[in-house]
Amino acid sequence: MNSARTDRFDLAIIGGGVNGCGIARDAAGRGLSVLLLEQGDLAGGTSSASTKLIHGGLRYLEHYAFRLVRESLAEREVLLRAAPHIVRPLRFVLPHHAGLRPQWMIRLGLFLYDHLGGREILPGTRSVDLRHDPAGEPLRPEFTRGFEYSDCSVDDSRLVVLNARDAALRGADIRTRTRCDGARRVDGVWRLALEGGGSAQARVLVNAGGPYVSHVLAEVAGDATPKRVRLVRGSHIVVPRLYTHDRSYILQNADGRVCFAIPYQQDFTLIGTTDEDFHGDPADVASTPGEEHYLCGAVSTYLRQPIDPAGVVWRYSGVRPLLDDGASKAQEATRDYTLELSAPADAAPLLSVFGGKITTYRRLAEAAMARLEQFFPGMQGAWTEAAALPGGDFPWDAVGVVCSELRGRYGFLSGRAAGRLVAAYGTAAPAVLGDARNTADLGLLFGDDLSEREVEWLVRNEWARTAHDVLWRRSKLGLRLDAAEAAALSNYLSATVE
Ligand SMILES: Cc1cc2nc3c(=O)[nH]c(=O)nc-3n(C[C@H](O)[C@H](O)[C@H](O)COP(=O)(O)OP(=O)(O)OC[C@H]3O[C@@H](n4cnc5c(N)ncnc54)[C@H](O)[C@@H]3O)c2cc1C
Repeated sequence: MNSARTDRFDLAIIGGGVNGCGIARDAAGRGLSVLLLEQGDLAGGTSSASTKLIHGGLRYLEHYAFRLVRESLAEREVLLRAAPHIVRPLRFVLPHHAGLRPQWMIRLGLFLYDHLGGREILPGTRSVDLRHDPAGEPLRPEFTRGFEYSDCSVDDSRLVVLNARDAALRGADIRTRTRCDGARRVDGVWRLALEGGGSAQARVLVNAGGPYVSHVLAEVAGDATPKRVRLVRGSHIVVPRLYTHDRSYILQNADGRVCFAIPYQQDFTLIGTTDEDFHGDPADVASTPGEEHYLCGAVSTYLRQPIDPAGVVWRYSGVRPLLDDGASKAQEATRDYTLELSAPADAAPLLSVFGGKITTYRRLAEAAMARLEQFFPGMQGAWTEAAALPGGDFPWDAVGVVCSELRGRYGFLSGRAAGRLVAAYGTAAPAVLGDARNTADLGLLFGDDLSEREVEWLVRNEWARTAHDVLWRRSKLGLRLDAAEAAALSNYLSATVE
């Protein structure tokens, strides 16, 4: 079933977020010919705006979301094994707040968290005496006791790109900056009208438009379903590193929500998130001053040194495409996913994705393929559970070894540069650096350790086109380059990318 580049496909997917790219990878690996259409950059929507956790979702236990939590807990180690360069184990400290959830409730939640998801690698829960543990040092003295548990962090936008790359390596046709303007069922297939006047055909269409899923259904595909998405904005702020240890905090707020403070990109702390119903165009989402005050206030309740919005060095906002289950508060709406299949007799099928977390994208893709199996008799079975993503073919605890090997081969790299390259490309880092024997061989240096050779790799192999793609999605070097350096990169890309 696999094809050379063609405009007739088994499967066309609208949406280059984590769910669309995950489905593209899974389908291509089963031998289907796949076309993926993304109107902007890969992960340009919600999938680069998450809290960047592969987590069971401790808070979801309060809403009895056991199916979702069990699946998510198990996925932590599956994804850690598949992509140990971009997924890392992380410990979370939950300070006990005398006025909020009682200790027995937290203990029960953590007991379930430890035992629901088949944990082999990640260490379990423990109690922490914050008067003596370094995790207590940044906290106000009234926080004397706490709990510590495991989840993982992920580079969300690189997870998306690595899925797209794996899909492409398995034959998928990934087209970014190509909006699907129309999709019509004609003679048992989908005829797609593409931005710029192109067209394509597919036997089956997947709508993984994230926050646009209802728009794609109604306006692009002319189909209808009673299912709806509830759009919920979540914002994050990044501040200079607030403390020196390597654990994260999960902080309870008086409104029943929780906020995270997470060590980020060595020199920073990532703080999020909020939950606000959103009614505009997802492309225009941005954090509000009110949200930044809320996040600073949430953290300052716990920290000896309060923070305020003046210290924010970066902010980002995204729209959760949640399945609308009628919950009264945005924070209570389900984080689980549903797949909606529309397959009228003799007409081409359409599968729409409602909801879905970064954490569950691989299982969602498997579930999508299970729903589509009937249309592709003889298709291969599920395969992604034990398959590494590009650059992730090394043991989960061997990041240090991969860094040492890289420095052994490229002696001119600083430890920090090698660490960054391995965290981005894993065992593919030598393919990025090629035959370079010294820094000069890497070509232009755009700022920090970003070289022309790396930018060329990102353009040729990872669909990067603009400085924003490179600095904020393929990497987070936007935190380190100044405006003049970013402008020079932008000029370089304008001159070299067709
Ligand atoms: C604040 C926040 C924090 C979160 N934190 C976490 C977390 O820590 N862990 C976790 O597991 N999950 C988290 N999530 C959830 C997770 O980020 C999302 O559920 C997930 O990224 C959704 O992915 P998606 O592929 O469905 O949507 P998207 O990433 O939005 O992708 C959909 C894509 O479809 C494209 N598209 C739409 N229409 C068209 C068209 N006509 N033609 C071509 N392309 C089109 C869009 O441009 C977009 O790129 C968080 C979400 C938010 C908002």
